[in-house]
Amino acid sequence: MTIFSKIINREIKADIVYEDDLCLAFHDVNPQAPVHVLLIPKKPIESLDAFDDSDAMLAGHLLLKVPQIAATLDLADGYRTIINTGHNGGQTVFHLHIHIMGGRSLTWPPG
Ligand code: 5GP
Repeated sequence: MTIFSKIINREIKADIVYEDDLCLAFHDVNPQAPVHVLLIPKKPIESLDAFDDSDAMLAGHLLLKVPQIAATLDLADGYRTIINTGHNGGQTVFHLHIHIMGGRSLTWPPG
């Protein structure tokens, strides 16, 4: 079980900004921008690599929720979404998550 499952189960506290039957969004504990929220499916999918065709509805749901959640976070000037996949992708928690970051002008490319 990852730390994110514990957040879903309320075993660990998080600053939750959105929740529905399929997903949960909460502030990152170590923010890299003034706004840094993580959106996760409640289903414990390890990473983007573990998605399969049966997850099509869930994948669409997560993506559609991003702008709706961003709209509640004062990100009208724009924001960045990132999904780190695997060790070389910089993934450290193996429960799929979408980073939603904004509140400042972000540089590109990332390191
Ligand atoms: P990754 O590196 O896997 O793409 O992102 C994992 C993110 O989870 C990191 O930005 C990290 O700060 C965040 N994180 C790790 N543990 C916790 C936690 O217990 N609570 C919260 N809110 N965020 C966490």
